Amino acid sequence: MAWLYDMTWQDVELYLKTKDTIILPVGSTEQHGLHLPLGTDSYVAIQLAEEAGRRTDTIVASPLWYGWTPHHMGYTGTASLKAETLTQVVVDLCESFIYHGFKKIIVVNGHREANLPPLKIAASKVRNSTGAYVAIVDPFYIGDTVAREIRTSEPGGIGHADELETSHMLYLKPELVDMSKSVKNIPPQGHFHHSDPFVSADRLIVPSSVESNRVAGGPSGVTADPTVASVEKGKVYHQSVMENFVQAINHIAGIPVEIKKIPEVNA
Ligand SMILES: [Zn+2]
Repeated sequence: MAWLYDMTWQDVELYLKTKDTIILPVGSTEQHGLHLPLGTDSYVAIQLAEEAGRRTDTIVASPLWYGWTPHHMGYTGTASLKAETLTQVVVDLCESFIYHGFKKIIVVNGHREANLPPLKIAASKVRNSTGAYVAIVDPFYIGDTVAREIRTSEPGGIGHADELETSHMLYLKPELVDMSKSVKNIPPQGHFHHSDPFVSADRLIVPSSVESNRVAGGPSGVTADPTVASVEKGKVYHQSVMENFVQAINHIAGIPVEIKKIPEVNA
């Protein structure tokens, strides 16, 4: 299926006669160390959405290249929406889609853990106010099993600009990755603190500030071990995430959804 921005309004009207799902990729524009581009999270969301759309004949909405990333503002070029702004933008877009007859919206989040709170709030607001089905596909969650299987870095090796996203980018956009500039920088783990989401630990949740993240990321901005990344891991990771994503879309297609309230036009 096509990108929404490549279709005519009439193409969309025709699509809605037989289908009711749209995929919305949401990324971020933020530092990813010295070896990955600022658009990493957006490229990941866009690529996953595009391939899933093609494999399941689902429309992919114009992507959001910005997310919620205040903690990376200590590194030049990062641009963050406020959490409330991201929530509101996603709510407004979902309402626009529902207004036209879409009943199911799948948000693909390329920015993993950090975008999730505002995206979950948006999904909850839209579900409760309209009755539409809104799901979030996040590689950290839908690719949990494969991530644990393929990682070879030590505990702390998964974090920011890490082994997995570097491998993924080596597979998706190798021309934008400079492995000669990748550095291992695993921040010290403290009492009730472990930065690696795949390590079991009892944790206290302390969101990073711009200052604390600058200290943890040091001169590179990496808080992980990307040096063990490889294109092979990226391929396995991507294919496994994609299989689950396609399965999820097929599963969602069978869920009956009743819109209880068509949203007003956002003005
Ligand atoms: Zn990232």
